[in-house]
Amino acid sequence: MNEFTSCHWLLHGLSFENDHIEMCCLCCHKGGGRLYIKEQYNGKDLSWDQIFQLKQKFIEENKQGKIDPRCEGCFNLVNRGWDDDQKYINYIHFNHWTHCNSDCIYCYTSWDKENYQKRSHYNVMPMIKELFKKKLFKPGGEITFAGGEPTILKEFDELVMLLIKNGADRITVHSSGIKFSKAIEKGIKEKKLHVCLSADSGSREVFQRVKRVDKFDKFWENAKKYAKAQIDDEKTFVETKFILIPEVNTTKEEIDKWLNLNVESGIKSIVIDIENDYCRDLRKNNKERPTYLVDLCKYIIERAKELNLLLIDYNNFRYLVEEYNLM
Ligand code: SF4
Ligand code: SF4
Repeated sequence: MNEFTSCHWLLHGLSFENDHIEMCCLCCHKGGGRLYIKEQYNGKDLSWDQIFQLKQKFIEENKQGKIDPRCEGCFNLVNRGWDDDQKYINYIHFNHWTHCNSDCIYCYTSWDKENYQKRSHYNVMPMIKELFKKKLFKPGGEITFAGGEPTILKEFDELVMLLIKNGADRITVHSSGIKFSKAIEKGIKEKKLHVCLSADSGSREVFQRVKRVDKFDKFWENAKKYAKAQIDDEKTFVETKFILIPEVNTTKEEIDKWLNLNVESGIKSIVIDIENDYCRDLRKNNKERPTYLVDLCKYIIERAKELNLLLIDYNNFRYLVEEYNLM
């Protein structure tokens, strides 16, 4: 092991995006991320050898104490011993960004939903099959599905089954919760998959305002079904997520309704974040977060504790919690 400052995504991860591949998906820190592995990717003409060659270039720089400016301020950068002599992948992010059965007001896909819904996407199955065939995958990391709605992709169930069969034991799927997936249910039962369902509301009115689809009942029906598949009393495999959108869903009343729905549905963990564009604009203009938002975050932390809900802090919420010392 060599000790230097680097990150696990640089060494052992990658993020499949709509038409390119990046080293990771993180972009809300100072440096802004976007370390491309291949710009213009359509599922072809890229080998795992090429990917590891590029990784090596970044790793060598890190070993010399050079940090790519795009990584500046990222919470994943740490100084520790790294197994930089080993080639394997154990962090994968799937961000297909095509098609969704929701229409969230904060999502960039809502700027041009019609065209977005027509976007094509490449099938990742050949690359993933090759990864397993070459024994380049090492369990123990994390596999995440995000942007766009993964459950409506044709290969989704097959891909999840393949990952589980090949030893992936920490899969997280971010879903709109509108379509029920048997593969997700199976992964939960086997204690290998977490699903994070995007609620952003605790009432039908706010759900419709944020999601712009009339699927509030369906969402909670599916959330309950997934929660029922959890057969482990110690660990939790189903979460609902609330992105705080100032002036839209940031009242204590809405938060309370959402927290209560989680408890009633048998859900034991929740995810909180703050809308990305809002935080980016504050940063750009050197503005502080408003007091009411900091107070609301504090309230959520306290109520989650009282209700025995495990709180998972996503990026912008995590930065706020750290800055205001809330936990
Ligand atoms: S340090 Fe952050 S931005 Fe850089 S590769 Fe790692 S996760 Fe991505
Ligand atoms: S569920 Fe996700 S991908 Fe779909 S519209 Fe909402 S934020 Fe965008």
